[in-house]
Amino acid sequence: MILTITANPAIDARYFLDSLKVGSVVRCNKTNKTAGGKGLNVARVVDLLGQSVAVTGFIGGRNGDFIREEVQKAGYQDCFISIAGETRICLGILGADGTQTEILEKGPQVTKAEQDEFLAELPAVLKETEVVCISGSLPAGVQTDFYQQVIEKAKVLGVKVILDTSGEAFREGILAGPDFIKPNREELSAYFGRSIKTKEHAVEAAKELIEQGVGAVAVSLGAEGAVLVEKNRVISVEIPQIQVVNPVGSGDSFVAGLATALAKGENLKTAMGLACACGTANALEEKTGWIEKEKLDQILKNMIVSEKKA
Ligand code: ADP
Repeated sequence: MILTITANPAIDARYFLDSLKVGSVVRCNKTNKTAGGKGLNVARVVDLLGQSVAVTGFIGGRNGDFIREEVQKAGYQDCFISIAGETRICLGILGADGTQTEILEKGPQVTKAEQDEFLAELPAVLKETEVVCISGSLPAGVQTDFYQQVIEKAKVLGVKVILDTSGEAFREGILAGPDFIKPNREELSAYFGRSIKTKEHAVEAAKELIEQGVGAVAVSLGAEGAVLVEKNRVISVEIPQIQVVNPVGSGDSFVAGLATALAKGENLKTAMGLACACGTANALEEKTGWIEKEKLDQILKNMIVSEKKA
């Protein structure tokens, strides 16, 4: 089983309008609501790949109930911890002219007791887990070393960890030596305080993270594919050119592909191929965190995965 952690989930509400005029009454043609947050995107793609998945994090209030219902409908194992605060709504306003306006709530405050409950419940779920994916930001009230504590618990039980976060949570999370991290260019550039553009830059930066105790660094590079750096080797993936529809959620789909391959015991070259193919397949869809199996298979046939000594 694969476990995904979404510490600060959200209802993703999308409003489709002709145009948005601030200060006026605007009619909405169409709306939709989905259970959102990076870990839930990962879970959706893991499920589409046919692996069993459990989801956890903090949820509360009526918005939290909505997410629980969606999780139940989808058939994922619901391990979310209930909190007193109200889960946030993230509102995307899509204009007929192609514009997109995002209004993001900050989300609830999570108490120390709620965090302790999460950490106390975690080992029981981890015992059934092969790979845990930790995705996204931390909600208010949660210390920046929270992921570090989660990673330590996973390592004690021999569960593989993929960490995909940014800022302080990333900085502190890597101190626990996760098996995999998945920064993109922007996240690596922000961490090192220098511009990381090319694959060569990414490999150099990843090597520094390996020195700091991270097992392997998978740097995703958008249309340029990805590289995975381990102590002694570098795996590079080149992907076919595509007509992008919506690349939001490609990083989460990448994590889902990587986790699925690792859970099946595939080697790292195969795992990186599936990871990149899932990211690319997601970019072909309107929906966030979604892949179509036939398109995925086509992409897998047209990728180049190579390996050399580091
Ligand atoms: P993030 O969403 O975390 O910023 P990336 O944009 O690097 O992640 O995308 C993750 C993966 O998705 C890439 O490694 C690649 O395989 C695929 N991908 C993303 N953008 C594109 C694109 N424009 N064309 C083809 N594949 C893409």
